[in-house]
Amino acid sequence: MPAAARERATLVVEPTDDGFTVIRFLVPDRRQNVLTAQVLADLAAALDRLATGSPPRGLILESGRTGSFFAGADLDRLETLHTLEAAELESLLTAGKRLFARLSQGVPTIAVIDGACLGGGLELALACDLRVATLADHTQLGLPEVKLGLLPGWGGTVRLARLIGPGPAVEFAAAGEPVDGLTAWRMGLVDACVPAAVASENARRLLAIHTAGDRIDRRRRRMAEPFDLDAAERDFLAATATAVMLGRTGGRYPAPPAILETILAGSAESAAAAERRESAAFARLAATPVARNLLRVFRLGERNRRDHGVGRGDEATAPPRSLVAPAVVGAGIMGGGIAASHLRAGFRVGLVDVDPAALARSVPAILDEAAWNRSAKRTDPTAAVALAGRLQTSTSLSALAGADVVIESVLERTDLKQQVLVEIERAIAPDAIIATNTSTNPITKLAEPLADPTRFCGMHFFNPVRRMTLVEVIRGPATTDATVAAVVAHAKRLGKCPVVVRDSPGFLVNRVLMPYLHEAVEMVREGVPPERIDRVSRGFGMPMGPIELYDMIGLDTALYAGLVMDAAFGDRIEASPVIPALVKAKRLGRKSGGGFYDYAGTGPKARVIDTGPGAATVLARYPLPPRETQDRTIADRLFLPMLLEALRVLDEGIVRDGRDIDLAVIHALGFPAFRGGLLAWADSIGAAEIVRRLEPLADLGVRMQPVPRLLELAQSGGRFTD
Ligand code: NAD
Repeated sequence: MPAAARERATLVVEPTDDGFTVIRFLVPDRRQNVLTAQVLADLAAALDRLATGSPPRGLILESGRTGSFFAGADLDRLETLHTLEAAELESLLTAGKRLFARLSQGVPTIAVIDGACLGGGLELALACDLRVATLADHTQLGLPEVKLGLLPGWGGTVRLARLIGPGPAVEFAAAGEPVDGLTAWRMGLVDACVPAAVASENARRLLAIHTAGDRIDRRRRRMAEPFDLDAAERDFLAATATAVMLGRTGGRYPAPPAILETILAGSAESAAAAERRESAAFARLAATPVARNLLRVFRLGERNRRDHGVGRGDEATAPPRSLVAPAVVGAGIMGGGIAASHLRAGFRVGLVDVDPAALARSVPAILDEAAWNRSAKRTDPTAAVALAGRLQTSTSLSALAGADVVIESVLERTDLKQQVLVEIERAIAPDAIIATNTSTNPITKLAEPLADPTRFCGMHFFNPVRRMTLVEVIRGPATTDATVAAVVAHAKRLGKCPVVVRDSPGFLVNRVLMPYLHEAVEMVREGVPPERIDRVSRGFGMPMGPIELYDMIGLDTALYAGLVMDAAFGDRIEASPVIPALVKAKRLGRKSGGGFYDYAGTGPKARVIDTGPGAATVLARYPLPPRETQDRTIADRLFLPMLLEALRVLDEGIVRDGRDIDLAVIHALGFPAFRGGLLAWADSIGAAEIVRRLEPLADLGVRMQPVPRLLELAQSGGRFTD
């Protein structure tokens, strides 16, 4: 960015006819207002100028950009956090705090919050004496620092605790979820919530009311003093909040407990002391690998949002075509989930299935999911009725005539899929896009009978669609850039994280997942109890262990995926004989009441009742010689083959960029974000150490052999993520 552009003013200062002064922020060259160094300098200069003239009745801080008060701190600045010494960081924070403190020292101030008011933006608003939020849908107030492994560092924890009480403050800052204007008003975070059209006028009225008498002074005194919380209350709050946090994070994330500690201890002292405590806690968190990893994952997400899915991903390309008339073929588990995600994203969607019973079964589930109110944790019946009119079902493919994108999700049989894809192609307009949700069929093979394979690609969703954010967009040999870019953009409109991959067995996710699953079964055959393997995997940070995952996916599905991988990479990912044997014994996993484990009931919520004596009988037929089994070895055996496969994927050019591997494992497999992804985790160990850890596993064969890229990095001391 040229220096001239960088220095363009980020705010204007305007006196009003009735004696107030408005500071209106508009940060140039950004889509959102963010708190850049320039904003802070401009604000300081504006306050200096105001202090020299005759003081206005009050100061109104608002945004000149619709939908964006301040979306937070400037991420480029955050990026450098971990390079700073603690003392350097604390003095930077102190400078920011001093600036914000000026907003409650001179003339009374009020923030008019319309749009995103997040992180440092909310801290700025909290530093004002008063706040008005708008009722608009785009108004969101939140402190998402915890999601980056940090806590608010500009006095946010201190003011929040004094404003809404330490308990709610801990809950709000440790969860990091934003709230709308009305909720913020109910919490006491803002003083009023009004329609956007009257927000400025309302702010002036509020200021006028508060400046009469000593209300502002009393507020300022209250904000400077300790918060009155007795010891019993504090202990209770500490115990309950700690339990909730442990349940949510398994103790792997240091920010939530640091927020609790900072707010509780800070409430008992003066605001000035609490602010020093906050800065010190911030500096400690910023130095943790978890914060660095979370920040990296956040940046990967940002990069993904800008990437159109073609070329290198960072060059300017024509805006992708916007798809507006989607349809899904196949109303099974996946097709239903895909249709529901379209409804949630505001689309009208067509749904075709040859089987009228399947359609009838799917509709209530789709509407339930689409109208699910996340905060109320129940379906909103009014929304469900409204959405029903936006879901058009049919048993005939002729209903697809008006679609501009059709997602095929019928049974996983090559011949059936090819036949259905040809029929779809005949039914739709020549420029409409066709995507297949196949999990194992090569896109190249499915494209064979199509007249125009340029508009065809894979669009691989994960189960359950509502929860799993990854979508693999798979290029066939003829798929055009325009098709890929349109499908990538469409996936983003569904709130998904699309990663573009080349056609290859298992694509990306199943390719790196299968070695992990396979290794787990090998260990079970060696006599390691399944629950121990699952425990080690969860201890590593995975949401569930590999054996639990087998039972969740279904052993019949896993069997099929395993055969595909065996055919392609049998030297290292063999199909285990255990899986077909369990399928033959009708042990299909949760859905049949038993797989590796036994369950009370069937379905995804079935509870484990036993570790599966039924499975043990099957397993006993396929023993392997027992090996040394430290927990650490179990973890190495699970995750190192996953890494080796990811390195092969990189070498084969299956993904365009290694960063996509980290995003994919986090979004599709729940790989722990605090480890930064598979490659970032590998970096935390180092290539040379990984080679060393593979040595005692060498006799297990090719699957534990270092790949050339690993050996090169071990030699050069290079990093996996560079
Ligand atoms: P499913 O058996 O639940 O549903 C398939 C549906 O396709 C059925 O309702 C069936 O009536 C319908 N169908 C069959 N022939 C049809 C035709 N000629 N025209 C229209 N509809 C037809 O299967 P599912 O689990 O939803 O899987 C669908 C696809 O998604 C498969 O390709 C599968 O590999 C893939 N997939 C599944 C998962 C998973 O975990 N289930 C995950 C990712 C991808």
